[in-house]
Amino acid sequence: MGVIRITKSVKALLNAFAEQEVALSTVALVEQFQDHMNRSTVYRILERLEDEGILHSFTGSDGLTWYALGNKNLLSGKANLDTHPHFQCKDCGKTECLPMSVSIPDVSKHTVESVSLLLVGQCSDCASV
Ligand SMILES: [Zn+2]
Ligand SMILES: [Zn+2]
Repeated sequence: MGVIRITKSVKALLNAFAEQEVALSTVALVEQFQDHMNRSTVYRILERLEDEGILHSFTGSDGLTWYALGNKNLLSGKANLDTHPHFQCKDCGKTECLPMSVSIPDVSKHTVESVSLLLVGQCSDCASV
């Protein structure tokens, strides 16, 4: 594990997550930063931040990769970033981490390395309209 260099680009991306407090898709991030960095830079930084455990990623119902801050409060124990579910609103597209953990069944003779649970529906804003 290398120490991540906090360049201006890395900082800008991290700020985007800190400000919005929801998950962001690669497409939205590339668009948001298109004047400052190219697509491959965005992808490279996201991958690096995930390697460092600062972000985690998951696949949305749209097939896009989404990233969110790896908030320790959301995680059970120290390691497994993937044991919390994600929620995606089918109306406004808001996508967020749910602060609960899912227990993973033991599958005999199989080794489970990652888990992904995506809940799709209406968020509280859309459901109350
Ligand atoms: Zn919504
Ligand atoms: Zn998450």
